[in-house]
Amino acid sequence: MKKLFALLLTLAMVLSLAACGGKDAPAEEENTEDTAVEESTENTEGTESALPTAVEGVLTMATNAAFPPYEYIEGGEIVGIDAEIAAAIAEKLGLEVQIEDMEFDAIIEAVKSGKADIGLAGMTVTPDRAEEVNFTASYATGVQVVIVTEDSAITSVDDLFAEGASNVIGVQRNTTGDLYTTWDLEDAGLATIDRYSKGAEAVQALKTGKVDCVVIDNEPAKAFVAEVEGLKILDTEYILEEYAGAMNKDNAELFEAVNVALEELIADGTVQAIIDTYISAE
Ligand code: GLN
Repeated sequence: MKKLFALLLTLAMVLSLAACGGKDAPAEEENTEDTAVEESTENTEGTESALPTAVEGVLTMATNAAFPPYEYIEGGEIVGIDAEIAAAIAEKLGLEVQIEDMEFDAIIEAVKSGKADIGLAGMTVTPDRAEEVNFTASYATGVQVVIVTEDSAITSVDDLFAEGASNVIGVQRNTTGDLYTTWDLEDAGLATIDRYSKGAEAVQALKTGKVDCVVIDNEPAKAFVAEVEGLKILDTEYILEEYAGAMNKDNAELFEAVNVALEELIADGTVQAIIDTYISAE
């Protein structure tokens, strides 16, 4: 009986070691002692990090660089609030940052498959997404707003919900603007949703009269409206949201380290300072 117990115990240890090792972690990094987590997260001196990242020593961030001012391309580089937050987190953890640009609706899959360590993309926390990824602490608030032409018959969010409404609404595919208008309006027979891969394309469709309005996050909305003449953002808000980083559910060690670093950056005002350099207070 004792022997059987010992055998089971050994088996359990082997299994938990295998689970901790991570899929691609190099052998020398398979340090599974509890203290290893703390040691590696305290690594702020630029010495090598033992964190289980997709690429050793690198925090790979998945994003869609068409969402100013959170991420956009300037001078051939991906810049913006999320890029700077990733850099600040990585610095605390002794990691480099590598940014991978992709369609917004490919980000969660990149995180789930372990190709990317974190999705930072002005991504709204939703219950459905939270079933697929671990969300970090929220670092910013977003608002879904409605963009219309200056002479539009749509003057408030309520107009979209009015009895007999039949608007064509432009959105960025699989964003919350898409999800909410689909549930609230298309499924209720009050609108048709036109889905674009970039927010800017939806805005162009509004300009050319293909859609009646665009539902999108307020900050990119401001950037797009500033560039296209004859458009405005309605004063009434569609919905308030929280942005957070999306991470792999099976990589608790990295999640813990990144989240602690992010919470410190929120607490000491670094995140707000980054946001303030891109978004002027109104
Ligand atoms: N906040 C929106 C969402 O999470 C849009 C994000 C984006 O387009 N990058 O769905």
